[in-house]
Amino acid sequence: MKKKITTLLLIFLTINIANAQKFDVETLKFSGNNDKYLNILVLGDGYTAAEQTKFISDSKKVIDYLFSQAPWKNYTNYFNAYAIKVISTQSGVNHPKTASDCGSKPSYTNNPYFGSTFDVAGIHRLIVPSNSTLIHNVVNANFTSQYAQVLIVANTSDYGGSGGEFATSTTEVNSPEVVAHEMGHSFAALADEYFAGDDYFDEKTNMTKTSDPTLIKWKNWVGINAVGVNKYGNTGLSASWYKPHTNCKMQLLGPVYCSVCTQGIIETIHRKVNPIVSYTPTNGATIASANQYLDFNLTELMKPVTNTLNIKWKLDNIIIGDNVDFVKIDQNTLSNGTHNLVVTITDDSNLLKVDNHASTHLSTVTWTINKSNLGVKLDSFENKISYSMYPNPTTNSFKIEFELDKQSEVSIDLYSIDGKKIRRIENKTIDSGKYSNSINIEDLSAGSYLLTFKIDHSKFSKIIIKQ
Ligand SMILES: [Zn+2]
Ligand SMILES: [Zn+2]
Repeated sequence: MKKKITTLLLIFLTINIANAQKFDVETLKFSGNNDKYLNILVLGDGYTAAEQTKFISDSKKVIDYLFSQAPWKNYTNYFNAYAIKVISTQSGVNHPKTASDCGSKPSYTNNPYFGSTFDVAGIHRLIVPSNSTLIHNVVNANFTSQYAQVLIVANTSDYGGSGGEFATSTTEVNSPEVVAHEMGHSFAALADEYFAGDDYFDEKTNMTKTSDPTLIKWKNWVGINAVGVNKYGNTGLSASWYKPHTNCKMQLLGPVYCSVCTQGIIETIHRKVNPIVSYTPTNGATIASANQYLDFNLTELMKPVTNTLNIKWKLDNIIIGDNVDFVKIDQNTLSNGTHNLVVTITDDSNLLKVDNHASTHLSTVTWTINKSNLGVKLDSFENKISYSMYPNPTTNSFKIEFELDKQSEVSIDLYSIDGKKIRRIENKTIDSGKYSNSINIEDLSAGSYLLTFKIDHSKFSKIIIKQ
């Protein structure tokens, strides 16, 4: 039985590869190594071979516009963008004229490569590429690194778009704004801030059922930049769901993203990428004792346009460098034995008001320096920690989640606010990837507690409030 399945899989694999054509790929925007930076892939649908120049200019238009908008423009150095020149046999997309709001627009059928069609879910302007498997196959056949987002540009001058796994737009005059809106959905999982229908209500970065301004997930923004607690509507379900703003790009074409959506996009960038691209020395370097100075360098960093990175170098827990890309250590100041040098990078952007952000998103490189009379041996470790703890405040339990770049020694302890250890929560080697743990604190009395984390050589703590 097992063998049969394998054979079937092989056949599918062969068919898929055969289906996935090779197309020319053009660079729209380059910041650095595809394996490190965030890649946006733009695929055309409904462009013939003769229309590929138009496809490139349509793609450039939306990508240039996207990166002219905050916060994309602040983090433009984190992104690459590539256009995959997918060739359709006919120009244009499909319009079945099956939605109730098609008006006088005629129906038409073309042969777009990914089957992009209007009238999805009975709404005219919802244009969606119908063959998502084919999109995956084309991406895999034409781009070897990981990608952060696929954007489909459909070759029609009719207004429309959609968010989802793939952001989709047309070439209509508003399409750059549509792309910015759909990227909010597809890249950062933001909700619409207009009423899109009862089925769309869900807990999202910018959508919640919580109405208490002191507890709402955007509580740190309430009262700033016109952020508040706004009902989606006055009747039915929409009266019990709330959004942060009344004039946000996730509601209307034209305005900027509200502060909550801006923060949501930046936090997604933080989750997806490590700004430390490269550093020296790398693991295992040996330096002869004749070299008096040891040089440690962050040789390539992704930096926001106004550089808001906070870079701290600590040697044996003492700060020796602040907001510099390199430090120099005089060997003669080091005693024989083991020393720890840690550089920690956080982002102090004032577009963020995230509690304990410095311990939510941090990247580190740790060097252990073994000094003996023979010379200095160095080992280095790199890690990026993406972290969340919720709900906080809580009544009975809370969840800790983090993602590790590499296998790490993790210990987590719960302390009372006056420093007494209450409970050891974790103390073990944890593989790279996602970690999740639900902690029950029903037995504790109400008040503040301190949760301390040691992940390899990085230490940080967070306050958890039990109500
Ligand atoms: Zn918003
Ligand atoms: Zn962050």
